[in-house]
Amino acid sequence: MEDEALGFEHMGLDPRLLQAITELGWSRPTLIQEKAIPLALEGKDLLARARTGSGKTAAYAVPLLQHLLHRKETGPVVEQAVRGLVLVPTKELARQAQTMIRQLAAYCARDVRVVDVSAAEDSAAQKALLMEKPDVVVGTPSRVHSHLQQGGLHLRDSLELLVMDEADLLFSFGFEEELKSLLCHLPRIYQAFLMSATFNEDVQALKELVLHNPVTLKLQESQLPGPERLQQFQVLCEAEEDKFLLLYALLKLTLLRGKSLLFVNTVERGYRLRLFLEQFSIPACVLNGELPLRSRCHIISQFNQGFYDCIIATDGAIRRERAPRGERAADPEAGVARGIDFHNVAAVLNFDLPPSPEAYVHRAGRTARAGNPGTTLTFVLPAERPQLARIVEALGGESAEPILQNYQFRMEEIEGFRYRCRDAMRSVTKQAIREARLKEIKEELLHSEKLKTYFEDNPRDLQLLRHDQPLHPAVVKPHLSHVPDYLIPPTLRGIARPHGKRKRKRPVPSQKGSKTHRPKNPLRTFKYTGKKSSAAKPS
Ligand code: AMP
Repeated sequence: MEDEALGFEHMGLDPRLLQAITELGWSRPTLIQEKAIPLALEGKDLLARARTGSGKTAAYAVPLLQHLLHRKETGPVVEQAVRGLVLVPTKELARQAQTMIRQLAAYCARDVRVVDVSAAEDSAAQKALLMEKPDVVVGTPSRVHSHLQQGGLHLRDSLELLVMDEADLLFSFGFEEELKSLLCHLPRIYQAFLMSATFNEDVQALKELVLHNPVTLKLQESQLPGPERLQQFQVLCEAEEDKFLLLYALLKLTLLRGKSLLFVNTVERGYRLRLFLEQFSIPACVLNGELPLRSRCHIISQFNQGFYDCIIATDGAIRRERAPRGERAADPEAGVARGIDFHNVAAVLNFDLPPSPEAYVHRAGRTARAGNPGTTLTFVLPAERPQLARIVEALGGESAEPILQNYQFRMEEIEGFRYRCRDAMRSVTKQAIREARLKEIKEELLHSEKLKTYFEDNPRDLQLLRHDQPLHPAVVKPHLSHVPDYLIPPTLRGIARPHGKRKRKRPVPSQKGSKTHRPKNPLRTFKYTGKKSSAAKPS
């Protein structure tokens, strides 16, 4: 079906938009874009079910920009005004949406200006930006509402297009009252798009409030991409130690190539894994839900820029559960929702079995995005097999093709690593984990902007933090970072590139339009010879 997709070039788009799309390296629209853009350009209101990673931002941004450009070129000369409003539930999503819109508007930046009012600048700076009447305003409902109330933003006579992105989260983040009040500042007639991952009762309520005779797009997208894009494996591990051993071998021999997300079920496990990998000089960082949003975004942006290849995450760190209706978190805008965007993840590895089918889909959905291929590997212990069976069933595992293929790895071929693995596991004591967690929190305190004034007033507290006990994370034994040739399984000599021996390239920040080079994935290219000499076989 994708082959018959209506290309961007046949949608009647402004050449400047097409140029930006080409520059971004998008050869064809995603499903949601193919369906939504033509309808939106006809002037229809849209209610679209779209998940993060489906290309939904461009699905609304392209028609929004096309509308604005067309209006400026063909319509009567009118006063500059805010004509597009994009509401999102979090600051992070606002930033992402603005970036995407600006990338698409790269060749018409003088004609279409976009401002994110949720960015952390002070409100005076935002007011100044709003005074210039940007064509598009992006923000969370509370920020937009406050500007409307203070008179810095006027929409009643100018708004033509409203977008509500991640609409199902807009109410659940406690924005209900602000949204309703915000809608009173809008004109009677405008075109509206509502994008949502689910169609729940909140979305129904929003639909009644903002949409007029909408076209509903419930695209027949399966929860995860098909096997041609996403290869899913299960790895049966006899014991907990085998999980560590296997991960060590996969990473150290770079059988898991490209960027990977390692999922664990608790923060404590995350630090255990990190310290374990540290023993072998395999750099990884923990995306810990306890750290402030800003730090988490920083970690993700460094990962996206290629500073390191592994992130260890818990489900909680990448998704915040819905707040009870009407109840508002201390800083609802700061909630990290499912919108957190990792780029070019080659593999998702479930080091710990996901607690539910939903968690599985959520984790696996971080790879094989936007037309890229991906792999998932799920480690499963004997006692967990019934739970995995439930996950497979929920994924629709009745089909002839098993959804999760058995990834048969000949453990005996990596037995030589076991001694080192045990040694490393022993070094990662509970105390070391506790200290590693404390160390990270301490760093956060020291660098916290919010605490800066407090420390200025209370220098002794700062000294205490600076000079308290030196931390003793697990002792790293340098010899463990090298893999002697005799330990490399015979079949992998030539394929495997021991991690420590790689020349580490300087990360190249992703450039507009440049296509990221993805190394060949050895997990996919293994050939099983059936002989003992083969180390791995996707069966
Ligand atoms: P979104 O679902 O909007 O968060 O988009 C997810 C990712 O898909 C973003 O990194 C976009 O740059 C990328 N993307 C959007 N549309 C396309 C497309 N037509 N082709 C390739 N990548 C795309």
